[in-house]
Amino acid sequence: MRLSRNRLRLLPVLAGIAVVSFLPSSAFAWFPFIASNGQPSKWVWNSSCNSGSRPIAVIYDAAMNVSWMKDSVIPGVHASWNSGLITSLFQSPNYSASNSTISSVNSYMRSPPANTIRVVWDSDGSIFSFFGIPTSSVLGIGLGFNTNSSRPQDICSGMVLLNKALIESYGGFKDRYLYFTLQHELGHVLGLAHSIAGDNTSSGLSVGVFTSASVPTMYPFAPAVMPAVGASLHADDAAAKKVLYGP
Ligand SMILES: [Zn+2]
Repeated sequence: MRLSRNRLRLLPVLAGIAVVSFLPSSAFAWFPFIASNGQPSKWVWNSSCNSGSRPIAVIYDAAMNVSWMKDSVIPGVHASWNSGLITSLFQSPNYSASNSTISSVNSYMRSPPANTIRVVWDSDGSIFSFFGIPTSSVLGIGLGFNTNSSRPQDICSGMVLLNKALIESYGGFKDRYLYFTLQHELGHVLGLAHSIAGDNTSSGLSVGVFTSASVPTMYPFAPAVMPAVGASLHADDAAAKKVLYGP
C-alpha cells in the first residue's frame, strides 16, 4: 500500500520476470486484497456496515482546496476512476473546512464514517511519522476500512495519506506526482493490491517497459516519467475496476 519513488533501478529486473516468464501477451496482472475469510475485498453499499449508496464521498483537507489541486488534478483522478461505469464510484470532490492532525486522524480511524474516504495532506510529515511511515521515500498510503467482523471482505470507508513535502519536491511536476499518487492510493482504498504487470505487449516492449503509458496505476513504484494530469487508468487497472465495480 505504499507508493515509493525510489529503487527505480530494480524495476527492469522485476519486469523481466513478470513479462517474460509468467504472462501471456493479453493477460492482466491486477489482483484484489484478500480478506481473512479468503474473499476478495471490495466496497459494498446498502449493507450492514454502509447504509449509504454509491458513489462514495471523498473529503479533502482544506489545504487541498487550492487551484493547482482542485481545478484539474483532483477532479481528473475522480473522472479516471468513474470513467465507463454506469454509476460513479466517487462523488465530486468535497473540501473540509480544516486540516487533519494526528489526533483527528486517530479519531477517524477509531470510528470511520461509512461511505466516506478522507484524504489527508500531511503538511509536515508528522502524521506519516506517527504511523512509522518513512517520509523520504513514500508518496502516499491508501487504506480501506472493514468494520463488520462477520464480513471482513466488505470495505465501507477509507483514508488516503499524502506526503506533501515529497510530492511538492518535484516542483513543476508536482501536479503529475499528486495525480498519479492519488489515483494509485484510491485504488488501494477500492480494494486493489499492487499489480505486477508492466506493459506485456510487444509494442510496449519496443518503447521500453517502464514508459508512463505502460506502468499500471497500481504498480508499486512511481514511474520515471509521470503520466500527464488527466491520464486514464492503465488497461490493467481498468480491468480490475470493471470486474469489481463495473459495468
Ligand atoms: Zn501502493
